[in-house]
Amino acid sequence: MRIIIFGPPGSGKGTQAKLLTERFHIPHISTGDLLREAVAKKSPLGMKAKGYLDAGALVPDDVMIGLIREVVASGKAKDGFILDGFPRTIPQAEALDRLFEELGIRLDGVISLRVEHDEVVRRLTDRRSCRSCGRIFNPSQLLKDDPAKCPRCGGELYQRSDDTLETARRRLDVYLRDTKPLKDFYRRSGRFTQIDGMRDISTIQEEIISILGKSKLKKTTATG
Ligand code: AMP
Repeated sequence: MRIIIFGPPGSGKGTQAKLLTERFHIPHISTGDLLREAVAKKSPLGMKAKGYLDAGALVPDDVMIGLIREVVASGKAKDGFILDGFPRTIPQAEALDRLFEELGIRLDGVISLRVEHDEVVRRLTDRRSCRSCGRIFNPSQLLKDDPAKCPRCGGELYQRSDDTLETARRRLDVYLRDTKPLKDFYRRSGRFTQIDGMRDISTIQEEIISILGKSKLKKTTATG
């Protein structure tokens, strides 16, 4: 399975991708996670990216295209992947198509999560992430007696530095300007399905699984 999970920040891409990874044992490739790891390690990539992440701006295309090429071409993605957070611009999407062609990879689909703008900002500013397992939680999922502890692995929960109100709004603006136009890019290719991301996590997950199942069915039928 080779899919892209698409949508504004806070639409649940990471949450859905992590659930799909657990279910299908396919790597979750999140460019945001890769960049945050690089920043934490203070690697050359991290040093380059930090200012952009802090400001809620996009890391330049050449840096991101180099990063994704390295990851997709590595053994990690050879049996499939769930791409989350890439592509975010038209040049990134075009570069990804070229890379797939070069490597003989066929993208199975792009699943887009649609969430209202006010809800995006509310979710981003309310959510907490786990330092150990990387899971993301909304306030209703936190433990009543210890809201700073990960309900899943017991790790420490934290608020991402780019999940403040001002940066969340900036990230939504960047999405609307630079990333949303990708919907038409993928619609034209016939690989695009948009679903309602305002529903609860498990309902969305079941719909994604059903879409992926149907596309597999279509392929089987098409090949006889
Ligand atoms: P995310 O975790 O996907 O919300 O990404 C967090 C931040 O990482 C973004 O606000 C950008 O600064 C940066 N980033 C992640 N993916 C990309 C990308 N494909 N292109 C440019 N910047 C990115």
